[in-house]
Parts: sequence; C-alpha cells; structure tokens
Amino acid sequence: MSETRRSRLVPEVDFDRDGRQHGFVRLFHSVHSSAYGFIPIPIVVLRNGEGPTALFVSGNHGDEYEGQVALCNLIRTLDHTAIKGRVIILPMANFPAGMAGRRTSPIDDGNLNRSFPGNPDGTVTQQIAFWIESGLLPLADIIVDLHSGGSSLSYVPTVLAKLSGDPVRDAAQMAALTAFAAPVAYLTGGGNGTGADHTLSGGAERLGKIWLGTELAGAGTVTPAALKIAERGLRNTLVHVGILPEADRVPGPGRTRVVEVAGADYFTYAPDSGVFEPVAELGDEVAAGQLAGRVHFPETPWAPPVEFHFQRAGLVLCKRIPGRTARGD
Ligand code: ZN
Repeated sequence: MSETRRSRLVPEVDFDRDGRQHGFVRLFHSVHSSAYGFIPIPIVVLRNGEGPTALFVSGNHGDEYEGQVALCNLIRTLDHTAIKGRVIILPMANFPAGMAGRRTSPIDDGNLNRSFPGNPDGTVTQQIAFWIESGLLPLADIIVDLHSGGSSLSYVPTVLAKLSGDPVRDAAQMAALTAFAAPVAYLTGGGNGTGADHTLSGGAERLGKIWLGTELAGAGTVTPAALKIAERGLRNTLVHVGILPEADRVPGPGRTRVVEVAGADYFTYAPDSGVFEPVAELGDEVAAGQLAGRVHFPETPWAPPVEFHFQRAGLVLCKRIPGRTARGD
C-alpha cells in the first residue's frame, strides 16, 4: 500500500489568501449528541504578500495557559498590514483538552505532545497531531510551541531548543533562541521520557524546521511576569525572521542565560508516596548532593520523612506543585 494518507480535518481558512482570517479547523466527530458535528479548533491566519511564515501554537497541553493568553493578545493586536509574510496562530491545538483545562484530552485521554506524527484514521488526538505535522508544519519557516508546567509543575520561565549537531542548523536554532530575549533559555537533551519523536518539535525536526519551545511557569495559572516574557518573545521572533521590522524588536532585560538539561540525572523524583516538602525553590543555585526535598507520611506522623537529593549542580528550573505526591513524580 503506497497510497498517501490524508488528514480528515478541514480548515475554514485559506492559508494562501492575503489579509486577516479567523475560523476553525473542523475535526468531524460523530457522537451521540451530534451525529454530523465537528470539533471546532480555532485558527487565525494573517498574511501580507510574500515572505516567511511563523507558526505559533499553544494549548498543545490544555492546562498550560500563559501561551494561550499571549496568543489571544497577539491575535487582537497584530496588524496584518504591518507584517511581511504570514503568521499562523493555533492557540488551542488540543482543543478538547483546552476546554477541559486538562493536559490530556477528555475524549481519548490523548496527550497531543506524545502523539506525533499522528494518524489520520486514529483517535481525535492522533488526528490533530497528523494534521499539524502534515498540514501545518510544512507551511512554516519557524515554529514556536508555547508550553508551561501545567497543573502539576512550574518552571522558571524559559525558551528552549534542541541542537542537532549540524552546525548550520544549530547556529540558526541558537540565533532564534537568543532573539526571543527570555532571561533564561535551555537546551534540551531529553531525559524526562518525552520521546522527542512524538512531540510537535519532533515533527518540526523531521521536516528540518527551526523551532522553539517554551516553559513559561505553570502551576495551572498565568503570571504577569511569564506572560511578558512570552509576548516579548513572540514579537521578537517575528522580527528575527523578518515578518516584523527591526523597529518592533522589544529589548530583553539583558543577555539570555543559556543552561542545559542534558539527561535523566538532571531530574529528581519522589522516592516514595506522601506529602512533598521542597527544600529548594525555583531559581535557586544548588550543589550536587544537596538536599532537594523530603516526602512526609502524615498518616504515620512518627515515621521519619524520606529525603532526596539533587544529582547535579545547577539552577533549579522546574518544580512539582501539588503537595500530595506519589513515588515517581
Ligand atoms: Zn506542555
């Protein structure tokens, strides 16, 4: 079988038309309450003549809100006559998850950012992944996928990228990373079981596209500080690729500090189930072997807590939020 597999999703917008368009990508989903209905995934396309294309995505995880707010604000404030080229904005990529305020879809429990390259005949989440990878990523010269820690995690607000070992591509990745002008950036090398092939950024890599991710804070909310970093970064990304003029660049607070998350030993996990007492805070500088936290057992309060330690020295970049914790969190 060599027939080309096609997405069943139908965008209401025309990606090649000049001007400002908004509408929905229709994901037909026949269910008890709606025999011929579709799931309406919102999309905005701004185009003004020939030029590069930027693709901005949020709501890949539905409980990560900073990117969703930043893109709502950008959609309402970006003048399509002021750009050169095209900006495609998909602010609720996993729409069912976004509406539920959950990391994963309530329809199929699908984690969109573990579902790439997707499947046109698969679950709702797999169909979204397939459409993004086959229908959207090929249009883009640069892709920014806005994440944050979500409900269970918080980050020092960061922009991130992954290097490939190809010097030309990596120079382009680093230039985009620093143009974002976040105070902290990091280079990801995995180690948290993400399985990069199954992420949106994995799709971008398969297509040879320059991409940035973010981790904009989290804890299931939005902070003004993280939002400011996101909004500045998006504008600066448009300037960086030439969609907006240099005069629109928003200066950052100084040089971006670039750190590295290179492997499994950069993460520290709960060794037991109980109540998590963090001993370090986000943004702290810590030493290898330093106490990271304790797990307490209030149901057996006379039992000593279990302590766990950082394996590496460095900056505390992310932290679990809920106090109740299970072994492996
Ligand atoms: Zn995420």
